[in-house]
Amino acid sequence: MVELTDVRKVYAGHVEALRGVSVVVEPGELLAIVGPSGSGKSTLLHMIGTLDRPTSGSVRIAGYQVGDLSDRELSALRARRLGFVFQQFHLAPGTTALDNVADGSLYSGRPLRERRERAAAALERVGLGHRLGHKPHQLSGGEQQRVAVARAVVGDPPLLLADEPTGNLDSAAGAEVLEVLRTLHASGTTVAIITHDMEIAERMPRRVRVRDGLIAADDGPASARLTGVRTSEGSGR
Ligand code: ADP
Repeated sequence: MVELTDVRKVYAGHVEALRGVSVVVEPGELLAIVGPSGSGKSTLLHMIGTLDRPTSGSVRIAGYQVGDLSDRELSALRARRLGFVFQQFHLAPGTTALDNVADGSLYSGRPLRERRERAAAALERVGLGHRLGHKPHQLSGGEQQRVAVARAVVGDPPLLLADEPTGNLDSAAGAEVLEVLRTLHASGTTVAIITHDMEIAERMPRRVRVRDGLIAADDGPASARLTGVRTSEGSGR
């Protein structure tokens, strides 16, 4: 789903935000990208989300080599294959949950009625089937973030990127949102959660730890799988 090879990103000619990052995420994984503030997490998210191009190295997302695509093709890739959730909910005020989510698939060219049907189904998936007509100010923080999650997945993207999704929430609401992300993962979506919060990261099956623009550690199922391969090869000889 994601394959970054020796990705470097230099800002303003001298700030080395990423200094050679290689990482592979398989379809169906749930992982945390974790590290302290300034370590390069957001930059990494920008690379994976094709929101920006690397200074050097290669980025392959959902089967596409990002370097081979025009800006227009990248927008299409983002709209169809990727879902984004941010710390800020970015909901339109005065607009119902249903239409906030329906507007998330404007690019699809589908008629409004159909987009609303899909939006209702997405809100159902995040446990907000009873809040379709509510406007953001009538919803709790956790509910607003779940609307944002519904909007991110209304087009059924294979990859969901969440950047500090619980950063503006108290721990109960944060737990609710993480539970929704787990449910989406269980139904087949690949989910990457960017966080500075080790407690959240510890609860994920895989943790990619970023430090000073490099991957400092990568633990969880991917490395366990590699160990497993080595063990079975070893025993077979
Ligand atoms: P994190 O998300 O872990 O807090 P970032 O990826 O935002 O880290 O930042 C990594 C480094 O790159 C920091 O030193 C930051 O100041 C710098 N940086 C990030 N974005 C820019 C930018 N647009 N221009 C210049 N420097 C940047």
